[in-house]
Amino acid sequence: MTLVVEHLAELTGFRDRDVLDVMLVSALRDMLKPQSLGIYRVVGDAARQHWLTRARFGAHDTTAAADPLWAELEDLPLLEACPARVACLREGRVVEHDAATDGTAAQLIFPVVTEHDAAGVLEIETAVPMSEEQRRTVQGILRIYRNFQSLLDYSERDTLTGLLNRKTFDECFLRLAVESANGQAGRAHGGGRRSGAGAHVFLGVIDIDHFKRVNDTHGHLIGDEVLLLLSRQLRACFRFYDHLFRFGGEEFVVLVRCAQAAAAPEVFERLRAAVAAYTFPRVGQVTVSVGISALRSGDTPTAAFERADKALYWAKQHGRNRVADFEALVQAGELADSSRESTVELF
Ligand code: GH3
Ligand code: MG
Ligand code: MG
Repeated sequence: MTLVVEHLAELTGFRDRDVLDVMLVSALRDMLKPQSLGIYRVVGDAARQHWLTRARFGAHDTTAAADPLWAELEDLPLLEACPARVACLREGRVVEHDAATDGTAAQLIFPVVTEHDAAGVLEIETAVPMSEEQRRTVQGILRIYRNFQSLLDYSERDTLTGLLNRKTFDECFLRLAVESANGQAGRAHGGGRRSGAGAHVFLGVIDIDHFKRVNDTHGHLIGDEVLLLLSRQLRACFRFYDHLFRFGGEEFVVLVRCAQAAAAPEVFERLRAAVAAYTFPRVGQVTVSVGISALRSGDTPTAAFERADKALYWAKQHGRNRVADFEALVQAGELADSSRESTVELF
């Protein structure tokens, strides 16, 4: 009993979702001593979904293994590759496979569904079937895990769109900046093709054009619907590991990781075009302007945001419905890079 309480205290002692998943499997491993266990999440778009390993212990592992945070989708197993997990999620119930005579372990798969995160499963393999009490313990711990995730969502997410809120931006930015500087894309073993140094992180500010008109013409509720639909387009356009924030009002911020710097403007251009091509119910066409800037070494959240915001302002002044890249505008002599000047003055 004490062991369970200690693990629960540890489980709820962190506000970091990556750590939370590692804590969950560590706690269950200590309690159940299974052959293996892991927590897996569904990532990708509706057409092609994959399994991302969030944390896993094999029989002899002393630390949890995980897929890199920036895993390439094609490096991950397809959803269909694990039909028992798919059945567990589709039917929303525990799926069980008995141990086989060939030595295959008994398997229990529990659905792990939280409000905002993608669905996932907890898979436990044991030499002998788990007792009723052990199953109830797992179910109870999963309930605490879900409740804790909901609390995190409540403090970290915007209620209308479910995107991250502004409060979480600084912390997220600094973590990304450190990871990017260290070239340490993966948390644990392995590492995809792009997990080494050299990946680029970009900050994009996205602002709806003439949004006041939408509200004035159609009312605030329809305006809110546009915000919600736009947030869905953002999710569809960016990858599961990019970070999407609603910064307030009709302004969104995205932290995007690209293997090549040249790819970033294209990613945002794709979003701009997708929004412009979409017909919003009752409102029709809505466009966005976007300002982007590459993260620099020693960057601060405020400095990076200000550069992207300057580019956004330029886009607004040059016809709207366009993507403006701060660095390209500085090179073209359209904008001054005051942060570089102040650095020179300071040192
Ligand atoms: P621009 O193209 O220059 O960005 O023009 P704009 O009208 O989008 O910009 P402005 O900053 O003048 O107006 C933003 C408007 O966004 C004002 C406000 O009515 C609306 N707004 C801010 N927050 C919300 C919200 O949560 N819901 C709704 N429906 N509207 C909001
Ligand atoms: Mg606007
Ligand atoms: Mg605005």
